[in-house]
Amino acid sequence: MKKVALVTGSSRGIGAAIAEALSREGWAVCINYIERRDKAEELAARLREAGGEVLVQQADVADRAAVERMVENTRRELGDITLLVNNAGIAKQEQFQDIREETWRRIFDVNVNGCFHCTQAVLGPMLHEHAGCIVNISSIWGSHGASCEATYSSTKHAIIGLTRSLAAELAPTGIRVNAVAPGVIDTDMVQVLGQETLDYLAREIPLGRLGRPEEIAETVLHLVNARYLTGQVVTVDGGFLP
Ligand code: NAP
Repeated sequence: MKKVALVTGSSRGIGAAIAEALSREGWAVCINYIERRDKAEELAARLREAGGEVLVQQADVADRAAVERMVENTRRELGDITLLVNNAGIAKQEQFQDIREETWRRIFDVNVNGCFHCTQAVLGPMLHEHAGCIVNISSIWGSHGASCEATYSSTKHAIIGLTRSLAAELAPTGIRVNAVAPGVIDTDMVQVLGQETLDYLAREIPLGRLGRPEEIAETVLHLVNARYLTGQVVTVDGGFLP
């Protein structure tokens, strides 16, 4: 079957690195973004220049209808999706008492319901073919609590629950479901922490630095290629968590 991947939230950061790594490995890739069309098109141009087959699609993963349109367009332009990387995610740091209802709901809508929408949208042809691969991007805060990030941490715990449940349910069909739990990775998302905190975190990380988006992409590629691996959560954090 043709290798066709959808990487959600791949205009920037970890998603962009995953899309680039997959393209280099011969995958046709749908690059998804919500606002930064410029970044998505810039990446697409670079990948096309290197010989890659790429489609750019705007869609808010929280919006089921938009996701279904994106998946349909991908099927038409590239072929049936055989790899889904649920990467799109948002975060907000605040004390639990200050969390507004709309913030809590939005972060769940993007981080958890986004996975639900995208997975349901791509699953039909995978079930038909008895093959396919899903990689969910969780976080180290998906297995440990994070102070002032209760919403984010709860969504990342949910992603791990979804990964393990779906892996068990889909294993008899040959579809594999795994997750990556990144530590602190140097992307736009962590810039809100400020340089002083990032420097402190780098010192706290046994490998002595923040992770690079490419290092998460390496693990995604491994999960894609490891054919006897399902239901696993791989932590990539430079040794940060004990
Ligand atoms: P980032 O630099 O903030 O990039 C976020 C990406 O997601 C962008 O491409 C953005 O699109 C897209 N996006 C945001 N909301 C979306 C939505 N509703 N629908 C579709 N796309 C959406 O984030 P990142 O650091 O690369 O993080 C990627 C994933 O890794 C997230 O799930 C995050 O939770 C997880 N993670 C990150 C870290 C870290 O330290 N960075 C650690 C652990 C886990 P636009 O460009 O259009 O805005």
